[in-house]
Amino acid sequence: MESMDKIKKAIKNAKKSAFYQKHFADINIEDINSIDDFNKLPFTDKEDLRQAYPFGLQAVPDEEVVRIHSSSGTTGTPVIIPYTRKDVEDWAIMFKRCYETAGCTNLDRIHITPGYGLWTAGIGFQAGAELLGALAIPMGPGNTDKQIKMMIDLKSTVICATSSYALLLAEEIEKRGVRSKIHLKKGVIGSERWGEKMRNRIAGELGVELYDIYGLTEIYGPGIGINCQKQAAMHMWTDYLYCEIIDPKTGELLPDGETGELVITTLCKEGAPLIRYRTHDLTKLIPGKCECGLDYPRIATLIGRSDDMVKVRGSIIYPSRVDELLASIDGVSSEYQIMIDHLNGRDMLTLFFETNVEIGNASAGLEKTVEHEFKQKIGLTPKAKAVGMGELPRSEKKSTRVFDNRY
Ligand code: ZN
Repeated sequence: MESMDKIKKAIKNAKKSAFYQKHFADINIEDINSIDDFNKLPFTDKEDLRQAYPFGLQAVPDEEVVRIHSSSGTTGTPVIIPYTRKDVEDWAIMFKRCYETAGCTNLDRIHITPGYGLWTAGIGFQAGAELLGALAIPMGPGNTDKQIKMMIDLKSTVICATSSYALLLAEEIEKRGVRSKIHLKKGVIGSERWGEKMRNRIAGELGVELYDIYGLTEIYGPGIGINCQKQAAMHMWTDYLYCEIIDPKTGELLPDGETGELVITTLCKEGAPLIRYRTHDLTKLIPGKCECGLDYPRIATLIGRSDDMVKVRGSIIYPSRVDELLASIDGVSSEYQIMIDHLNGRDMLTLFFETNVEIGNASAGLEKTVEHEFKQKIGLTPKAKAVGMGELPRSEKKSTRVFDNRY
């Protein structure tokens, strides 16, 4: 089986790093001959990578490493990922494929707002755009005035951003009344869980087709998968990656079509190969072939992170369900925040949502509706609080919606 050879080679390469020498100390590659054998290998998690700081993941001699990237996460020691020249090239090839899947060509002007630096975002968008032969506009984040000026003057056709920054730009363009001067046709949006309502607002206000691009710093960076023009599901570049979906609680492999956590093995990575890396992203593998004709398997739009699932008074809350719930209520915007506190011996959930109705009697009625719907669909009654449009923070990075203050 061809993929088994690739997997064995990946494990062999991984075992050249100090981290995997230890992590797989008891594993003999000659014993891994089937997917069943492979499924018995221990997972690799972000915490393992932190402990390998700084260079424990490096699986090649120093002279072959040309770059590092780093992901910080929310707490603690960063993770350092070394890249070889081939890793950098492979990443650009995958990224170019993403742009092509979204229908971009060498005539596009690609406006890149994700940050440049240790984080993998900006430079990945840049390398893919250059390999495509398009014009890259390396803006980086922030300075909305300048973003909009350049977008107008340079006639940017593709905007690359996180969903929350794309929303902020859409709102600013609307506010300034410059929509008719904007030439954007497509938005390539860094994958994070985002609801239909937000998607529709960005697409509507900017007048663009939206594409979700997937990736994480530990595995190259953004660009390892994207949705096509046919579907919301994302094609994954499985010539470079082996994907599994597991039950996040038990670690058992799940069949195609069932929702669980995405686990990725790098098949070609040299600098820091990863075997069975837990992404903590919740999705499912979609069976069958896509109408667009691409042969690469698809994963569904992310529904959240396995570590964002919160349990409050016995109910499990997925942020994606809250997105859907709010989308179904008129007058409620896509922006919200959840605070969970432990008060007087009881867990309390407060849901802040933005609304365009006047704060007062009208918004009080809306709060009651939200509380009622939440109870019906999610199983517990929150304290709903309406705030005006634009009052909740927008972020240039991935936005945090759930703040659990109980522990
Ligand atoms: Zn497709």
